[in-house]
Amino acid sequence: MSQAYSGGDLAMRLAAVRQEIDDAVRAANRHPDEITLITVTKYHPVALLDALYALGVRDFGENRHPESRNKAEHLHERYPDARLHFIGQLQRNKARQVGRYADCIQSIDRIELVEALAKLEREPNAPLEVAMQLSLDGDTARGGVPVAQAEALAEAIAATPTLRLCGVMAVAPLEANAEEAFASTREASERIRKIVPEATMLSMGMSHDFRSAISQGATHLRIGTAITGKRPDQP
Ligand SMILES: *Cc1c(COP(=O)(O)O)cnc(C)c1O
Repeated sequence: MSQAYSGGDLAMRLAAVRQEIDDAVRAANRHPDEITLITVTKYHPVALLDALYALGVRDFGENRHPESRNKAEHLHERYPDARLHFIGQLQRNKARQVGRYADCIQSIDRIELVEALAKLEREPNAPLEVAMQLSLDGDTARGGVPVAQAEALAEAIAATPTLRLCGVMAVAPLEANAEEAFASTREASERIRKIVPEATMLSMGMSHDFRSAISQGATHLRIGTAITGKRPDQP
């Protein structure tokens, strides 16, 4: 397995994506420092994470516990500057476990998760970074809080000392025009920043729509297959 990842294909795909990001950033009159690329490695073996780290990747996205825990442990043991972002739907009874190893949970979408994470043990002044996942079409089966309820959820997070709200995450709905979906994500984020001014993370844009996301102000891109190639089936 690891053999496949030490080849040049991964390096070439990563370089191509970085170049496309740079081009889109420039076209949008933005600065490259405003963008964090999170490489989504779900379902791939840890050898891929090692290969990506060697190519300069520091932010990794995973969506399922306990796979995400194993990868977080692997990364944190070896690479002090690697960060694991949990981007998947979260069950209440797993929330605290995920909170112990994730560097950021981007998929907070309901009060019961905030309540579960309120009981996390954290060092004083070292809250867990979280983002709220927004549901742009109200189809919460795919995760996310309906935009109309997002401000109440932001207030609940802001009132929880174990958590620090750093922004919002969204996936463009399947049928939607990505650019419009990302524009409404940005508008929702502006309303939330009236409540929590430092919640500036705008995590949006995947392999097929990251250029639109950059044009609409994304600060964090979550890109999987365009970098990793085809994902293995869900284990
Ligand atoms: C899998 C996943 C991604 C990456 O998707 P690609 O199409 O492979 O780039 C991004 N965000 C979330 C929430 C995901 O689950």
